[in-house]
Amino acid sequence: MNRWTNRVAVVTGASSGIGAACCKDLVAKGMVVVGLARREHRLLELKDSLPADQAKRFHARKCDVSKEQDVIDAFKWIDSTLGGADVLVNNAGIVRSNVGITNEGNSQDLRDVLETNVLGVAWCTRETFRSLQERKVDDGHILIINSVAGHRVPIIPHFTLGMYSPSKHAITALTETLRQEFLLKKTKTKITSISPGAVDTEILDKAIVAALPELPPLLRSEDVADAVTYCIQTPPNVQIHELTIKPIGEN
Ligand code: NDP
Repeated sequence: MNRWTNRVAVVTGASSGIGAACCKDLVAKGMVVVGLARREHRLLELKDSLPADQAKRFHARKCDVSKEQDVIDAFKWIDSTLGGADVLVNNAGIVRSNVGITNEGNSQDLRDVLETNVLGVAWCTRETFRSLQERKVDDGHILIINSVAGHRVPIIPHFTLGMYSPSKHAITALTETLRQEFLLKKTKTKITSISPGAVDTEILDKAIVAALPELPPLLRSEDVADAVTYCIQTPPNVQIHELTIKPIGEN
């Protein structure tokens, strides 16, 4: 991790689950880490849980990634306070379960999922890229936590994940589009998509767990965080495009 020591990683959705685990791992590896999320108290609890030397390198910042201006303000703050983001882990995401696309009265839920899971990634990636370019830094890394639901629509009996799988499929296309833009812009900044299967986090609410067929023991957030760190640690000329990570026994 030497080349990343004291460089800045931004993790969205850092207040729980995979994002919190990524923050812990990256800060332990010597990076300066900014955790973004809406629940500031959970970010501050995360900071309090860190050893003192690591807590100094962890910064909590309230930010709703679905709100473009919030994202612009957060990244300007990162530029002026910490020098700018070098690594971005686009992890924030939501599910609104059993909110069918064809049901009446769900417009806001459907919009929330698209604005968080898709546009949130676009705004954060754009702001990170802007900052890298302004500083003439050419070895950044954008990571995107997609999902196996971004590659095939999960069939759950008598249940729908509504806009979730379409939003993650959009992320699959967004990732490849960003890759093409980066090629056009001749940057060496990397793009990696990580698609987990079932992970034991708050996003799997009781309704989803009850509806799912019997699952093998789920992944832990730390398992996904290990994969994120592994991708970041690769040599400068090595880019992992897509990584799928599932618990043994998940189809
Ligand atoms: P969690 O619910 O524990 O974490 C989701 C995080 O996203 C929270 O920190 C939440 O913080 C944050 N978030 C949600 N909306 C916003 C927003 N508008 N702005 C900023 N932050 C937001 O679940 P996971 O850790 O599992 O989810 C992380 C990612 O992993 C998601 O993208 C999810 O789709 C993906 N994933 C998860 C799988 C699983 O089985 N758990 C499987 C495959 C993919 P706050 O509410 O404080 O804003």
